[in-house]
Amino acid sequence: MPGSATLVGYDEAVSRYDPLIGLETHVELGTTTKLFCGCPATFGGEPNTHTCPVCLGLPGSLPVPSRKAIEYTIRIGLALNCSIAEWCRFARKNYFYPDMPKNFQISQYDEPLCTDGWLDVVLDESEAGADGSPRTFRVGIERVHLEEDTGKSQHMGGATGRIHGADYSLVDYNRAGIPLVEIVTKPVEGTGPLAPKVAHAYVTELRDLLRSLGVSDVRMEEGSLRCDVNTSLSPRGSGRWGTRTETKNVNSLRSVERAVHYEVERQAAVLDAGERVVQETRHFHEDSGITTSGRSKEEAQDYRYFPEPDLVPLAPPRDWVEQIRAALPELPSARRARLQEAWGITAAEMTDIRNAGALDLVEQTIAAGATQADARKWWLNELARRANDTGAELADLPITPADVAAVAALVASGALNDRLARQVIEGVLAGEGTPDEVVAARGLAVVSDDAALTVAVDEAIAAHPDVADKIRGGKVAAAGALIAAVMKATRGQADASRVRELILARLTDS
Ligand SMILES: [Zn+2]
Repeated sequence: MPGSATLVGYDEAVSRYDPLIGLETHVELGTTTKLFCGCPATFGGEPNTHTCPVCLGLPGSLPVPSRKAIEYTIRIGLALNCSIAEWCRFARKNYFYPDMPKNFQISQYDEPLCTDGWLDVVLDESEAGADGSPRTFRVGIERVHLEEDTGKSQHMGGATGRIHGADYSLVDYNRAGIPLVEIVTKPVEGTGPLAPKVAHAYVTELRDLLRSLGVSDVRMEEGSLRCDVNTSLSPRGSGRWGTRTETKNVNSLRSVERAVHYEVERQAAVLDAGERVVQETRHFHEDSGITTSGRSKEEAQDYRYFPEPDLVPLAPPRDWVEQIRAALPELPSARRARLQEAWGITAAEMTDIRNAGALDLVEQTIAAGATQADARKWWLNELARRANDTGAELADLPITPADVAAVAALVASGALNDRLARQVIEGVLAGEGTPDEVVAARGLAVVSDDAALTVAVDEAIAAHPDVADKIRGGKVAAAGALIAAVMKATRGQADASRVRELILARLTDS
């Protein structure tokens, strides 16, 4: 198998080596226009329709920076506790690649807009500390800078979609010039064996933060959030840093964790064999969970950075920066802590809500009148299962928090039992209307009318004389079979507790 490597088991690897990780995250900003021109910054579109002389780098065209993109970058920097530069510059990064129409990228080099911040990340419950409280890691932020995205190449005619073996290549410049923010962490030391989990937790927290700031749609699968993961190992307690590898474009949260895990196992084997880790970029393979060698960094490319001559320096006025700071929304960690306390739930229960992407939905369902227990129950069980079946996001299901609160209210009033409530939800999802309309149209209601139930109970007893004899003989537990028969005969609409009372009244002295 190509790229397969000797590995050392993870636990053994981290018993002898300390992992050191660093993360570089690229996020495409959700601005209306591109960074230096008026072309739309939307995802997709017919190839090469979102282009103009500026983003194609035609001679004589000049860039004009987007104020919105700079504002968004400052917003991200402030939310990450960074200092905002009083004066900085764009830099020209020179390299040739077909998806770079200008043969250079306008980026930032030694003068980034935001520097020296941090983000606290919380590991999930399984890694709780000795006192049961969740473990928190403070990840240092080295820099946050603004640059333009590249276009996309597509290699046609080959079996693998890679350039090797392709007959020809196509380029699409729709993405070229979309504002891209790069967020670089400081080396994250002291994680020990938790390095993969810290990496996962960091990208998760960062994604939630960026979403709450409204600066990006942060869809990893569409590439609007992309992550490169640096990993190195050093002998335990040596205090030295090892040679790192950079695993590129890891495009799911789970893959971030897997990529670090794999690199630890692979690099430990290399070091155990007395060899040295090659400083290089590596590719992560979603299917097999391994990384393979990409381009070596030892003959590092010289990008010949120099200050971008077509743009004036950037000096964000302090009062503007303070306005942006004052307008920051409540950040996700503070919001989760506030809601967890208000709802009286545990950290683990909050983690479940977050992992399901249900925080907004649960909050809105409670606001619509449901109890926190009901709101969590419906979103995290029945609706999560249905979303999973159809491959949809929970938030994209065609049911509103108000609908869910209405279903919960019908159950609480005794008008529906859980089984009927699930049928109501099925009807709402099928587009049959509001919960009340589905109840009316499908004739769903709990039957607790004794006259109707007694007929069904007598029929069930007549049909199962052996069961009835057992109950008469004192085996009350056998009543379950008769209750089931009545529920079946009433298509689930009987009030089960009343049915049980009627059965016992018929067959026992009670
Ligand atoms: Zn353009």
